[in-house]
Amino acid sequence: MNLILFGPPGSGKGTQAKILQRELGLPQLSTGDMLRSAIAAGTGLGKQCKAVMDCGNLVPDDVVVGIIAERLDQADCGDGAVFDGFPRTIAQAEALDRMLAGRGSRIDAVIELKVDDEAMVGRMETRVKENPGAIRPDDTPETLKNRLAVYRRNTAPLLNFYREQGKLKTVDGMAPIPQVASSIRSILENIPAASRR
Ligand code: AMP
Repeated sequence: MNLILFGPPGSGKGTQAKILQRELGLPQLSTGDMLRSAIAAGTGLGKQCKAVMDCGNLVPDDVVVGIIAERLDQADCGDGAVFDGFPRTIAQAEALDRMLAGRGSRIDAVIELKVDDEAMVGRMETRVKENPGAIRPDDTPETLKNRLAVYRRNTAPLLNFYREQGKLKTVDGMAPIPQVASSIRSILENIPAASRR
């Protein structure tokens, strides 16, 4: 089964992806994590992306599509994956559809974590305060505002893309973490067994 977790920065995609990874045994594919690893490892790719990420803009589509294409060929993705933070543009979504079709697979569901934008800023500020050691360079209030603007401009249009494909499901992302996880579980139980791969 291939799932996309969808929502603005701070909506809890990563948290829910980890829960799904544990419960379904599907790997969490977070392009943000992969890019941060590349930066930490000092690779050419990391160097190329650091400045763009630090100010909260999107790295080029071909970079993230290339990373995901490589990742999908690893054995643990054989039964599907949970996509977290990818796709973020229509071009990425179209590339993902092609990549999966080429592997005899498809996206089964896109789960939107619906949240209140203003509350997101507060939630991220709390995250920064509570984990001062884990502060990301792109977790400053100014960068967060830009990340939300980029989300609205480039990523939110994907909601219609997936709604038109009949794959969009929405859950209340403002609910407590276990409740969000249980809403997602209910949605997945209703996905036809034939497409669970
Ligand atoms: P995230 O951890 O998902 O919030 O991603 C952190 C940053 O990595 C983003 O602000 C972007 O600069 C970059 N990034 C992650 N995923 C993508 C993507 N699918 N497309 C473009 N840029 C991305």
